[in-house]
Amino acid sequence: MFDAKQLANEGVRNLQPYQAGKPIEELERELGIKDIVKLASNENPLGLSSKVRAALQDTLSGLARYPDANGFYLKSKLAKKFGLQTSQITLGNGSNDVLELVARTFVSAEHEVIFSQHAFVVYPLVTQAIGAKGIAVPAQDYGHDLDAMLAAITPKTRMIFVANPNNPTGTFLSTEALQDFIAKVPENVLVILDEAYSEYVAEADRAPSFAWVDSYPNLVVTRTFSKAYGLAGLRAGYAVSHPEVADLMNRARQPFNMNSLSLRAAEVALDDEDYLQQSVAVNAAGMEQLVAFCESANLPYIPSQGNFLTIEVGDGAADIYDKLLHEGVIVRPVAGYGLPRHLRVSIGMPEENEAFITAMRKLLD
Ligand SMILES: *Cc1c(COP(=O)(O)O)cnc(C)c1O
Repeated sequence: MFDAKQLANEGVRNLQPYQAGKPIEELERELGIKDIVKLASNENPLGLSSKVRAALQDTLSGLARYPDANGFYLKSKLAKKFGLQTSQITLGNGSNDVLELVARTFVSAEHEVIFSQHAFVVYPLVTQAIGAKGIAVPAQDYGHDLDAMLAAITPKTRMIFVANPNNPTGTFLSTEALQDFIAKVPENVLVILDEAYSEYVAEADRAPSFAWVDSYPNLVVTRTFSKAYGLAGLRAGYAVSHPEVADLMNRARQPFNMNSLSLRAAEVALDDEDYLQQSVAVNAAGMEQLVAFCESANLPYIPSQGNFLTIEVGDGAADIYDKLLHEGVIVRPVAGYGLPRHLRVSIGMPEENEAFITAMRKLLD
């Protein structure tokens, strides 16, 4: 009898697929309701920037051709903006792609990969897909316990993932703590610093992580256009690393992993300072709104530096998630991240946040 599972490699066989936030259209189909508010995937509530929209329109006529496999213009723009060499940049179909690429390039089945408890689920996923051993280090106040992560390094350790800010907890590591950690990691262990939410962090608090790559050749920093730049549906992200690391990743990379639309959109988004500033301002205001609600409702929350707030709603989290769906509000259950009493709520526009708050007040009564 045909048994595909027997044929699959062992890592994949035992993998649980990534669980994305529930799409609006799916809830519409299931419950037949309209005016749904989705605060489940840390997407940008501003929608697409008008400058990007216009540029995409102009790009359509070229779509019969293959994209630029080297992403020359986007890499040049990134290099100029951040003071990098283009040879340090690896482009990805979202930063997710880069996170997988770096693991596939450097990790084999005999290796161990360290990440924090409650960290981004893609880290254990890519580790397991390779058949390597994932080491989840217990969190400290929901965030990374860097000393414990250092202590978890063994001769088999090849890679350590650190998300700053972390998703789904929003916890943040100071520049000093982070640099002290990276300096202590042996050079034969790669540190992947995932800065998907970097733009939401106050500039004074942001680590000079791209510059660190010059001092720490085993450091790989990843960023994305999915969050503050508002391009989640297009898939655009990148890594900054030592040129030799980038060169190796480039060998394992699919040649056209960024398409013509995502390349062009990312180029334009990078210059769209107004949109970025608005993203950050809307997020700061929405964060205040949600925090004020939590305080007034006596709901504990994890202080967040991202574009989301993870709230401890209690033992009934799964039930509250379900009831919120029936109120037309999609949030994110995080039981799969070891947080069964919490729900993660992305920051939306003021009226979207209000819809969540109103629904919660109704459920709590
Ligand atoms: C959203 C997110 C990403 C980015 O994903 P993309 O593939 O770029 O859309 C990466 N890391 C973390 C921790 C995230 O939350």
